[in-house]
This record gives sequence, structure tokens and C-alpha cells, in this order.
Amino acid sequence: MEKSADINKVVHQHVEMEDFFAGGFTVKGNRIEQQQTEAKKVTEDSVVELEKIAAEVHQCRKCELGSLRTNPVPGEGNPNARIFFIGEGPGADEDAQGRPFIGRAGQLLDKVIAAMGLKREDVFIGNIIKCRPPDNRDPKPDEIINCLPYLQRQIELINPEIIVALGAHAARTLLNTNKPIGQLRGQFQEYYAGLGRPPVKLMPTYHTAYLLRNYSKDNRKKVWEDMKKVLNELGLPIPQR
Ligand code: URA
Repeated sequence: MEKSADINKVVHQHVEMEDFFAGGFTVKGNRIEQQQTEAKKVTEDSVVELEKIAAEVHQCRKCELGSLRTNPVPGEGNPNARIFFIGEGPGADEDAQGRPFIGRAGQLLDKVIAAMGLKREDVFIGNIIKCRPPDNRDPKPDEIINCLPYLQRQIELINPEIIVALGAHAARTLLNTNKPIGQLRGQFQEYYAGLGRPPVKLMPTYHTAYLLRNYSKDNRKKVWEDMKKVLNELGLPIPQR
């Protein structure tokens, strides 16, 4: 009984998800090509450096998660990305495949990206921690402290114009605050990328896993409002429903 109710909920969510984030959006003209500025072009050196970080993550045993994981999930995407989506940490699907955001929350993220007129290959996707905590528990402070330098280096190399922090863990860690996500979301914040480097604009929004658990029109609308601000900031057209 419980199970069939769950399945109905999943099917209903899927239909709504299609409708809200993928259905009916049109972009005038061709698919939006990301307008890469000269300044944003990454060098071959940074691509090599990103690969080096991924290799280090594969070797990493700085915390217990290193021996508990099936695969680490270093992150993936366009090294020239203008937008870097950052989540909390890998779940079971990501752990099994070593790729970020490929489970249900990832499929919803794909739809959000598509609704923005973009493709997954246009952006970079990563996490605060690179290995799955057992039973999807919250990451512990020492795990975040050990893992964060990998992400900081990735941000430095990709040099995105905008970071989208998905959920409270990502937003609070990157902004060094304890404020609730409900208070942080919807307004650009600043991520400090290090001494002498200009801050990167950061848009906190609800995690897609939270959206799936709290599937209201209001929450979906809030995420879409946040993404419209991101598109606007980048000078990209806002697909119309
Ligand atoms: N949730 C996250 O925070 N990251 C993933 O990669 C998948 C789900």
C-alpha cells in the first residue's frame, strides 16, 4: 500500500517536473550558445590541472569516506563554464558511477538547466565533498575541511562568473555562514576566492533533492526565479513558458 502510494507520488512528481522545468519553454532563435568572453577562455594548463585534481581525489584517503566510497565524484563539466553548480555530496547513484548529480535530484537539475536554455555540457557540476557519506548522512566538519581545498582549486581554475549553491550545506559552507537557505536564496551573495582575487557572484537556491521532497509550486517557482536572476546577470535570454 505504502509502496504504491510512493510510486504514484513519483509518477505525479515526474509529470509535474516535465511540465514545470522542461515543458513549454522556448528560446527565440537557436539554442543559446554560451557567449564565452576572451577572459573566460581556460588554458590547456587549467584543463590538465583539473584532471590532476580529479586524479588526487581518486587517491584521497584524508577522511574515512575515502575507504567507504565505491567511487569518488570529483565533478565534471565544461572547464570554460560560466556557471558552476555546487551540491552537497554524492548520493548512492553518484557513488556507483563516479559522476555528480545523476540520480533523481540530478535528473531534476538537468531539467532546471534545460529550462534555462542550457545543456549540462555548458556548465560545471560538483559538490562540497567528493565521497558519499554512509546512508547519505550530513558531511562531518572534518570531512568538509579536508575536502574543500579540491573544490576551491576547481573554482579557481574554472573561474565561473556565477556559482549556484544548491541547498543549505553548499551555500553555508561557501559563504561561511549559518543562515538558513530560505533566508540566503534569491539574492546574489559573494564567494571569496582568495586574497587578491575578485569575489565570485553566488546564487543560493534550494537543492533539487529538497525540491523533490517538498514538491510545491511555490518552491519550484522560487528556484525558477533564482535561475532567472542568474540568466539575467549573464546577459542570457530567459526562455519563455
Ligand atoms: N546530491 C548532491 O548534493 N550531489 C550529487 O552529486 C547528487 C545529489
